[in-house]
Amino acid sequence: ERVVAPGAEDLERAAEAALRPRRLAEFVGQRVVREQLELVLHAALGRGGTPDHVLLSGPPGLGKTTLAMIIGAELGTSVRVTSGPAIQHAGDLAAVLSSLEEGEVLFIDEIHRLARPAEELLYVAMEDFRVDVVVGKGAGANAIGLALPPFTVVGATTRAGLLPAPLRDRFGFTGHLDFYDDGELEQVLSRSAGLLEVDLHADAGGEIASRSRGTPRIANRLLRRVRDWAQVRSDGTLDLAAARSALAVYEVDSLGLDRLDRSVLTALCTRFGGGPVGLTTLAVAVGEEPETVETVAEPFLVREGLIGRTPRGRVATARAWDHLGLVPPEVGGT
Ligand code: ADP
Repeated sequence: ERVVAPGAEDLERAAEAALRPRRLAEFVGQRVVREQLELVLHAALGRGGTPDHVLLSGPPGLGKTTLAMIIGAELGTSVRVTSGPAIQHAGDLAAVLSSLEEGEVLFIDEIHRLARPAEELLYVAMEDFRVDVVVGKGAGANAIGLALPPFTVVGATTRAGLLPAPLRDRFGFTGHLDFYDDGELEQVLSRSAGLLEVDLHADAGGEIASRSRGTPRIANRLLRRVRDWAQVRSDGTLDLAAARSALAVYEVDSLGLDRLDRSVLTALCTRFGGGPVGLTTLAVAVGEEPETVETVAEPFLVREGLIGRTPRGRVATARAWDHLGLVPPEVGGT
């Protein structure tokens, strides 16, 4: 329900799919990964074979799913989609694998969340294009090795470090996606505005980009909110005034902080003198679960240099005081 959440909400999947770039050339930014991937794919096409398995890592909303779909499009093949949490039993994965057709792409989102037995089945399948299926039950049960046609696994993970080495080693290519700069987000936005058939002024695009936390998913979502505002409250023009007014309604500030982020920061400064204060104490002060503060608000606050983590607890940085328009208490006197 947070307008600045980096993960996809179920309700917005259709809206997102409509804005996905379909080909590598349309994919904005991530120059290094794009070039490397282009080589991997075109070399495989040239040889008439399937490319190495591809692992994509990076925070939510930066384009991993989009790239998986693009890989299928560039190879001229279909993409089967599943995810780590969706595969409960190794048998579920065996069923998916044994139904793959030659050259198909199998996209496994959140691959770090695969259960252990499924993971083991997967790396044998990736390496040897073989899956062992158990036939029959009880004492008469028999494992039969089933040969699979060549296919390509594209795995996506927010935490490459969580993948066990044997699985990680089966990927011939790993691409790491990084946060986008404002210029790249402006390109994403102007492309999306074209698809949505709205007139996005350049300065409004810049304003939305600068509040999007380096994340195309958030940029596209804020664009849709600004479009709603312009449609209902004015004549549909997406100019700077419309962008600012809409983002004020959604309580997204100049740095892209929302109400939760700001309440954490404000509590840290005004109630605890800028810290250090423990996570639990801070969470109680803002009426949230410690886990929410730690996983939802903190990563971006730390990345922006607004909060520091020290052994004695969280501290507000000079930038935090400045952003809130507050004066830090004097330390030590002058
Ligand atoms: P992830 O799988 O990493 O969470 P997605 O691939 O679902 O992210 O991307 C989220 C949204 O952001 C999609 O709607 C997609 O259109 C858009 N997007 C992501 N990366 C790009 C990009 N490089 N260029 C244009 N749009 C992008």
